[in-house]
Amino acid sequence: MRGWFQTQEVAPRVYAISEPGHFEEVISYLIEGEERAILFDTGMGIANIREEVMALTGRAITIVNSHSHWDHVGDNYRFPLIAIHYAEAHLLREGASSEELRREMRAEMFVQPPPVGFEPSQYKISPSRASLLLDEGSPLDLGKRALTVLHTPGHSPGSISLLEEKEGLLFSGDTAYAGPLYAQLPGSDFDLYGESMERLARLVPQLSLVLPGHNVTPLDPAILVEMAKGFGQIASGEATYEFESSPWGRVRHYRFERFSVYLSE
Ligand SMILES: [Zn+2]
Repeated sequence: MRGWFQTQEVAPRVYAISEPGHFEEVISYLIEGEERAILFDTGMGIANIREEVMALTGRAITIVNSHSHWDHVGDNYRFPLIAIHYAEAHLLREGASSEELRREMRAEMFVQPPPVGFEPSQYKISPSRASLLLDEGSPLDLGKRALTVLHTPGHSPGSISLLEEKEGLLFSGDTAYAGPLYAQLPGSDFDLYGESMERLARLVPQLSLVLPGHNVTPLDPAILVEMAKGFGQIASGEATYEFESSPWGRVRHYRFERFSVYLSE
């Protein structure tokens, strides 16, 4: 039987660890260097991502969180070393158990059954503790493999992307993926989001792959240019939208060819 995770080597020693069994289709990434490895996000905590990762690498692992939202920090508590942007470190300590989480665990949210032993009604995000605070430009040295933290706020205040300049890899977290982008959540900031998209779009000539936090991976970097353009059209009032009701109240939904954007009314 296939397990909960689907793992794919998307670039040399970069493993995308997807959770296609839940409609969120969260993706975490194991990035392995000569001395250390980074796990960029820990998924939903529905299955044990630590076991999955230990089967792939013998290197010491540091968790780096793209941001603090529940669907990316679910298994943080299984690891001792956690790095996150300083603006969201305090949110890890709270964990999460809420209406929103229970809604996400309804049977219709699952595309395939959750693993045996997983109890949707008991679902919660265990608290975890940051041991390293990140900021714009923080270097991550894995031994013959170096990444840099880009602070790309907008979806959330402490959202980061990771850039591996040498290989042209951009790990874009929840800032950019080929699906509905959330610019309307508590803590979201549409103007900052637009600036982050502009910044990422400027990197496109030096990128080979974009490795996003949801849905399909990898992505052709050109999508970042489309996204920056879309955000610009929303800002200038040129883009069309429909109103939709959501758990956060009425929102505007802007649809583009390969992605869409949710914005508060
Ligand atoms: Zn998020």
